[in-house]
Amino acid sequence: MKPKRILVVEDEPEIAAVLREYLEREGLLVESCDRVSDALDVLARQAPDLILLDVTLKDGSGLDVLRAAALPESRIPTIMLTARSAEADRVLGLELGADDYVTKPFSPREVVARVRSVLRRTTEARSDKARAHSASVLRVGNLEIDRDFHEVRVDGYATKLTATEFKILSLLAEHPGEVFTRSHLLDSLNDTGEIYERTLDRHINNLRKKIERDPREPEHVLTVYGVGYKMSRP
Ligand code: CA
Repeated sequence: MKPKRILVVEDEPEIAAVLREYLEREGLLVESCDRVSDALDVLARQAPDLILLDVTLKDGSGLDVLRAAALPESRIPTIMLTARSAEADRVLGLELGADDYVTKPFSPREVVARVRSVLRRTTEARSDKARAHSASVLRVGNLEIDRDFHEVRVDGYATKLTATEFKILSLLAEHPGEVFTRSHLLDSLNDTGEIYERTLDRHINNLRKKIERDPREPEHVLTVYGVGYKMSRP
C-alpha cells in the first residue's frame, strides 16, 4: 500500500521535528510547513492524507487551513494541535470539520495513535463508499451503467442518454435475459406519462444508436418479435 502523506503545519520547530521523527518511524511520509499560506499551497498542489494542524500560526489562524481542508469535495482528515487554554478554537475547529484534537503539551506517541485511528476511520469510510458505489454500477459486456452518476459508458467512454433512454436501459439491464413486453416497459417507465407505445420503439432505436456497435444488429437490447425487448445476458 502507498505510504500515507501527513502534512504537519506547526510553527514551533522543536514540535515539528519531534512529530516528523515519530511519524516517519511509523512509515508515514511527512511534509511540514509553518505558515497558513504555505499550507494552503500544499493543499492546492497535492492533498495529503491527513493534516496535523497547529491553530496559532505566524501569519494567521490554522482554522483557515481547516476551512480549506474541510471542503466537501476534498475533505482532508485533520487533527488540531491546540493549547490547553484554547477551548474556543477547539470547539470551532470541530464544528468546521476537524476529526480530532490534541492539546499541548502532548506525547508524540499519543499523536501517532490519533493519526493511526483517524486514518483507519477515513480509509474504512472510503472503502464502504467505494463498495456501495460499485454495487450501483451494472456491467453488461462493454457497457457500464452507473446509476449513481446517471452515466453510461461504452468501452469506457461516457455516452449521453436521455432520461428515458437511461431508464429503459437500466430496467432491462437489471434483469438480463428477461423479456419485457411493451406494456410492461411502459408501465415501469411511465411514472410521468410522457412515453407512449408508439414512441417506445423510437426511444429504443435512439438508445441502440448510442450503445450498440451496429444498431441494426444489436448485441445488448434485443427485440423479441411480437412481444417486446430484453437485455442480452452478459
Ligand atoms: Ca503555534
